[in-house]
Amino acid sequence: MINLVYNLNIRCKKCGSTININTTNRHFTSVEEERSLGYETEHEYKKVMVCPDCGNHIEFIILVYEYPNNWYNCSDISGFGYFKDNIAETIDKISDIMNNI
Ligand SMILES: [Zn+2]
Repeated sequence: MINLVYNLNIRCKKCGSTININTTNRHFTSVEEERSLGYETEHEYKKVMVCPDCGNHIEFIILVYEYPNNWYNCSDISGFGYFKDNIAETIDKISDIMNNI
């Protein structure tokens, strides 16, 4: 299984506050699907929270695709209530570095 350790800062869309999100593998739920090069695994992390500074409702979802096995493929970020700029790129960058360790 790939490493799903992320330390991310997202910004509240209402007040601009920075909220830190730390993940490890156990925060993700995983689903496998068989493809031509073996199993593709979709890892999902979902966090529903309230901004500690303004009470804004935030939903943050990361999908990380592992394919082939033990290899980071790509990620998808969704949800609402926060600025999305650069989050997916950050995850791609971190994961690419991990692929090369
Ligand atoms: Zn806020």
